[in-house]
Formats: sequence, structure tokens, C-alpha cells
Amino acid sequence: MRIIFIGPPGAGKGTQAEKIVSHYKLVHLSTGVMLRVAVAEKTEIGLQAEKYMSSGQFVPDDVIIGIISERLNAQDCKKGFLLDGFPRTLTQAAALDEMLQKNNTPLDIVLELKVPDDELFRRLAERGRDDDKPNVIHNRLAVYAEQTLPLLQYYAKQSLLKTIDGQGSINIIFERMKETLDKFI
Ligand code: AMP
Repeated sequence: MRIIFIGPPGAGKGTQAEKIVSHYKLVHLSTGVMLRVAVAEKTEIGLQAEKYMSSGQFVPDDVIIGIISERLNAQDCKKGFLLDGFPRTLTQAAALDEMLQKNNTPLDIVLELKVPDDELFRRLAERGRDDDKPNVIHNRLAVYAEQTLPLLQYYAKQSLLKTIDGQGSINIIFERMKETLDKFI
């Protein structure tokens, strides 16, 4: 199964992604996690990415596309994967389409996790990660609306989009996801 997971910061993507990959035995590809590791290890990419991440901006497309294309071609991804936090721009989506076409591995579904803004703000303020400070949160939500929301239409046009209500308990949301994903086993 090959899944893209889209949702604003604070929607609970990371938590649900963990549950999905363990239930369906998929590889979890989170660009946010990869970047935070790169920053902690002070690699060249990490040093480059840090300034964007700390201000709530996107890391440049070519950097992200480079990271993902290398990872997607690895052997473990053959059994299926969940992309969490990628693509986030139309340029990234087009690059991904090209990679998947070349490997003859089309997507099964694009899941959108939908949560209202006031609820997102509350959740992010509680989480307290480095980039969860109020002005940075504001920036990240604005960048999401501007850069990532257009992807929903992009994938709806390909009849791949399924929107899931991201409000409620972790388990209830997971049940909603499974209802959709079980069709692709
Ligand atoms: P996340 O953990 O997915 O919220 O990602 C944390 C931060 O990493 C984001 O605010 C961006 O600065 C950066 N980032 C992660 N994924 C991407 C992406 N696909 N494109 C651009 N920047 C990204």
C-alpha cells in the first residue's frame, strides 16, 4: 500500500502515521523527522534546513526532493510506504509523480486529516516543540494554507483524495482511517 498523508501542523499526522505503519506494516517516511535528525547530527542538509524550520518556513523543494528520492528507491520501500509531510508543494507533488511513474508504483490513496484552525492552535501550543512558539505556529499554518492546500485539489482531480475528520480521540480517528485503508489491502 502506498499512502500520502496530508494535514496541517498539529492535526495529529505523526501519531496516526505511527499507528498506520505498524498496523499495515509499511515504511514511515516523515520528512520532518528526517530533517530533525539531520539538524541534530549537524549534517550539511541539517545546517541548511535549520533556519527555515525554526521560522516555520518550508525547506527548499530541491533539498526535500533530493532526500525523498534517495529514500524512496531503497529496498524496504518496496513493501509499501506512508509519506508523512511530503509532498507539501505542487512542485514536490509533480516530482513525486515522476518518481513513482518511473518505478511503476502508483499511489493508492491520499489521506487528508482535517482539523479546524482554533483546535490546531490549541494542540500545537500544548505540544511545545521548538517550532511550536505562537508566532512560528502562525507562520506554519499560513504557509500550509498557501502552499499545501492546493495539493488537495491536485489529488482530488486524480480521484485519490479521501478526507478524514481529525477531531475526536486517537483511537476513533484511527478507526476512521482503517475503514478507508482496509480497502487497499
Ligand atoms: P513536520 O514535522 O512535518 O511538521 O516538519 C517540520 C518542518 O520541517 C516544517 O515546518 C518545514 O520547515 C520542514 N519540512 C518538513 N517537510 C517538508 C517538506 N515536504 N517541504 C518543505 N519543508 C518541509
